[in-house]
Amino acid sequence: MNPGRADLHAELLRLFGYREFRPNQQEVIDAVLSRRDVFVVMPTGGGKSLCYQLPAVVLPGYCVVISPLIALMKDQVDAARANGIRAELLNSSQAPAQRAATLSALSATQAGADGENDLPGADRGTGVDLLYVAPERFSDAAFTSLLAQRPPSFFAIDEAHCVSEWGHDFRPDYLRLGELSATYPGIPIAAFTATATHKVQRDIVERLRLREPHVVRASFDRPNLRYAVVPKKKEGAQILSFVRERPGVPGIIYRATRKKVEQTAASLQADGIRALPYHAGLEDAVRAENQERFQRDEAEVIVATIAFGMGIDKSNVRYVLHADLPKSLEGYYQESGRAGRDGEPADCVLLAGGGDIATARYFINQITDPDQQARSSRALAEMIRYSGSIGCRRTQLLHYFGEEYDSPGHPGCCDVCAGEVHSVDITRDAQIVMSAMARTGQRFGVGHIVEVVVGSDSERVRSRGHHQIKTWGVGADKPTPHWRRVIDSLISQRLIEQTDEKFPTLRLTEASREVLAGERAVAMAEFHASAGGRTAGRARRSRIDGDDVRVIDAPETQRLFEQLRALRKQIADEQGVPAYIVFTDRTLRDMAERRPTTMDEMAEVHGVGTEKLARYGERFVQAIALD
Ligand code: ADP
Repeated sequence: MNPGRADLHAELLRLFGYREFRPNQQEVIDAVLSRRDVFVVMPTGGGKSLCYQLPAVVLPGYCVVISPLIALMKDQVDAARANGIRAELLNSSQAPAQRAATLSALSATQAGADGENDLPGADRGTGVDLLYVAPERFSDAAFTSLLAQRPPSFFAIDEAHCVSEWGHDFRPDYLRLGELSATYPGIPIAAFTATATHKVQRDIVERLRLREPHVVRASFDRPNLRYAVVPKKKEGAQILSFVRERPGVPGIIYRATRKKVEQTAASLQADGIRALPYHAGLEDAVRAENQERFQRDEAEVIVATIAFGMGIDKSNVRYVLHADLPKSLEGYYQESGRAGRDGEPADCVLLAGGGDIATARYFINQITDPDQQARSSRALAEMIRYSGSIGCRRTQLLHYFGEEYDSPGHPGCCDVCAGEVHSVDITRDAQIVMSAMARTGQRFGVGHIVEVVVGSDSERVRSRGHHQIKTWGVGADKPTPHWRRVIDSLISQRLIEQTDEKFPTLRLTEASREVLAGERAVAMAEFHASAGGRTAGRARRSRIDGDDVRVIDAPETQRLFEQLRALRKQIADEQGVPAYIVFTDRTLRDMAERRPTTMDEMAEVHGVGTEKLARYGERFVQAIALD
């Protein structure tokens, strides 16, 4: 029999220390408990793992969790165990003794699929609730015969988009998961993904051969993330000041190339910042170590190409800074979404402009497959529109995923909503640029047009006689970067076009003629903020799941928070696990505010379940009492 709603809440509190489900969690759990196939689309940080962990404990028997990365499994197992959930893993890198221990724990577990309790004496201390495996396990005869003897209550497929060749993380090994429903007809499958595109979603359901799954698609809104775009000027200096403003704060900086990753990491290190590089050109061991050190809070910043992603399960990333233009809005959403998984405020900042658009166009031009080229070109156009937008950024992102955002206008939303991005009328400047383009025969790129407009006396300009045209020097009262931004903005609004050639040139469009004829006004985003803009932390309140997330105001609370963080780090090091597995930032913040001095009071803190109370409660109570 399925437990009632009240029981599920009791389990939520006992196991995880949470009082409320996040949106959609209860619906997913109900569907899993009713033993049907379920397909769940939820953004990163939405709380997918709880959707299979809780039913795995509640249902008789155990759940097989299929996860793509062996490297991540250990942390997943540690995190589940820290909540008192009996988790094990089976993989090829295990020593025989470890394997044997896992198998014997499994044989002490009740049978799952038929719900029969074939081992009445099995107690909760020895069995297994969750068994983590990689997809390749299913080609191992010993494993499949184990499944036949001792069927699980259900399969949970994590990162299910890995089965789709349309997605960005395709893993051929995932394809064989399509056989599960035929091989184990009585065992339900729950598949989870954070992929937002509908096309990939349909593909997943088909390839996994889910049987009339109950589909739950959560909102892609991430209320605790604050979006901002900052014009790219001197990126090296901008990155440095951005990181300096956030000392000791964990963050990810994405760069477009390996070389830029190395340069940025080196310049941050030279400034005394614990920054590490991550890209596919590094040796495997170095890459794994850098990721591990970031994960364990031993380095605050990781500078990475987009090779860095799925392997990261760190919940307290407080910012994601894209220092180069991402290839698509989908990519941008997923990469920036690695911030703030713990639900605490975090910043997603994009440095946009410079030569990025032209570089991207150049690379797209090198793509030989015309379909792929057209797709990349459309994706770039979306990205350009996002970065040059003078409307709410969250609205735009969600619109891209087919969602309407209903409450823009609060400062925690984005730089535009916070009033940091004003639009200014640039109709006259647009006309100047367009006129310079027309008078030079639409045969020149951004750099040359800007030189003409500001009245440069360079050899390039003179040799072509461009110092004699009417527009030469008309814009000398404004600096070169201003004119570059005007041109970027005109491109992003499609009022002019930039060609795809190796040396891209600017072309007028139908819309340009309207502007030149004075029939159409043009506005552009004008930025007032510093390199990083305001931070999410400074937005006083942001709504998350109906809770108000408070930002620490009082200095004594902040001081205690830092002390608790240090204690958390010490405990995490003793146990060889990442800090967030002990307690999340959100839990420590709640603790610093409530100052519990008894175990009963400690049990009230958000994220302190029975197991964590028993494991860590005493030490934290003592630390607070001594403060
Ligand atoms: P996902 O896999 O969807 O990216 P996770 O399962 O890692 O997300 O969950 C993200 C964070 O949210 C974790 O720290 C988790 O403990 C927390 N969380 C999950 N469910 C809840 C809840 N009901 N209340 C509060 N925090 C939750």
